Amino acid sequence: MSEADCLFCEIVRGEIETEMVHEEDDVLAFNDINSKAPVHVLVIPRQHVANLEEIGDLPDAVVKRLFEVASLVAKKLGVTESGYAVRINNGRDAGQEIFHLHLHVMGGRRLGMP
Ligand code: AMP
Ligand code: ZN
Repeated sequence: MSEADCLFCEIVRGEIETEMVHEEDDVLAFNDINSKAPVHVLVIPRQHVANLEEIGDLPDAVVKRLFEVASLVAKKLGVTESGYAVRINNGRDAGQEIFHLHLHVMGGRRLGMP
């Protein structure tokens, strides 16, 4: 999948509406359209990388920032104390649907594994 037909790149370019939770230079966070928990936010780098196998293409500071924004979003939405899960679905068996790396930040209810 290229940047031209990547749904999350379309969100980065402002071509698709989303409920934005946090925006900054290199990282965006928006509500998952099909939320599976009271808090379910996706944190993405603006730069297109498909999966963890391509994470080396991101500047180190952006990789770090993805996790900082996950924490920041949890705080903003009030789940820091109750806790939250940060999940990456990577590849077929994990059910990855969108091949633009993203962190799911989920909270507001008890979350089990997997
Ligand atoms: P996955 O690739 O399995 O980690 O999941 C992709 C996630 O993107 C799913 O949870 C979808 O509900 C979500 N999603 C798909 N389209 C949109 C959209 N337009 N805006 C927000 N979230 C979306
Ligand atoms: Zn993309």
